[in-house]
Amino acid sequence: MDSLTYPFDLAAGWLQEHAILPALYALGLMNWEEVAYGWALFAVYGATQVVVTYAICLPLERWRPVERWPDSRAVTVDIFYTLLSRVGLLPLMTFVLFYRVQVFLTGWVTDNGWVPPTIERVFPFLLGQPVLTFAIYVVILDFSEYWRHRLSHLFDWWYSLHSLHHAQRQMTFWSDDRNHLLDDTIGFVWFMAVALLIGIPPMQFPLLVLLLRFVESLSHANVRLWFGWLGERLVVSPRFHRAHHGLMAAGLASVNYGGVLPWWDMLFRTADFGHDYVPTGDPSAEEVLATGSYAAQQAAGVRRMVRTVAGRGAEPAAQSDPV
Ligand SMILES: [Zn+2]
Ligand SMILES: [Zn+2]
Repeated sequence: MDSLTYPFDLAAGWLQEHAILPALYALGLMNWEEVAYGWALFAVYGATQVVVTYAICLPLERWRPVERWPDSRAVTVDIFYTLLSRVGLLPLMTFVLFYRVQVFLTGWVTDNGWVPPTIERVFPFLLGQPVLTFAIYVVILDFSEYWRHRLSHLFDWWYSLHSLHHAQRQMTFWSDDRNHLLDDTIGFVWFMAVALLIGIPPMQFPLLVLLLRFVESLSHANVRLWFGWLGERLVVSPRFHRAHHGLMAAGLASVNYGGVLPWWDMLFRTADFGHDYVPTGDPSAEEVLATGSYAAQQAAGVRRMVRTVAGRGAEPAAQSDPV
């Protein structure tokens, strides 16, 4: 195991020594040295994940693409979203912030004479079963992601941010991370609250995020790929998630909100396994949300939210509650 992680440690050490420490020193932030190493390590994992995702998804997209585009410039912005998110923001938030908040909360809870919550306290049979515990973390986090995603379609103000994700008409494995920063922030607070509540250890949390996000990248790939009748019901496939984007494009209420497991869609009756490789996009979104630069998309997302909250402009996302 150590030999497996050695190259990552080595790369993170190099990054720490040559980039992070000089930067922290220059900014007078030397007390962040320890967590900065954690960030560097998970940034290296994030970069590796991008390379692995690319190596798996690109051949798939070349092999059996759903769509071919003469001009795929709009995808370039999605590549930027992915790098920013996987190498910069996710390691920063999943390790540095989570670690700090976890240490603070554990201290506070213990100081008050309580025991910090963990899943093993609720289910003692999980003690000494790290693999099973990890799998249960995946299931619980994915369940919470299902509801976050579903609510982001239900509330108009929230959908005006999420529409940035749906505006893309050239959906590829790069599209998973094309989200509004505010939407990402809400999503991260939501995710972190659940992770803290079930007591995920700080070193496992970023690894969980890496695993879940890999499946989510694959589910956006521009590939005619499905996992068979049973497989479709076990893990979210590119075909299943494309239907989520496609029905929005067709102006219908969406389906298939699951990120990794389609089980919640089946349980709450939002699953639709019947759609074959439909076109994606959001006709209610300004063109700039689909094809603008990163900054233009972010600005347009805020504008759309302000218009929605002010009660004019943006189309409702679904038959949703007024805010
Ligand atoms: Zn959505
Ligand atoms: Zn999506």
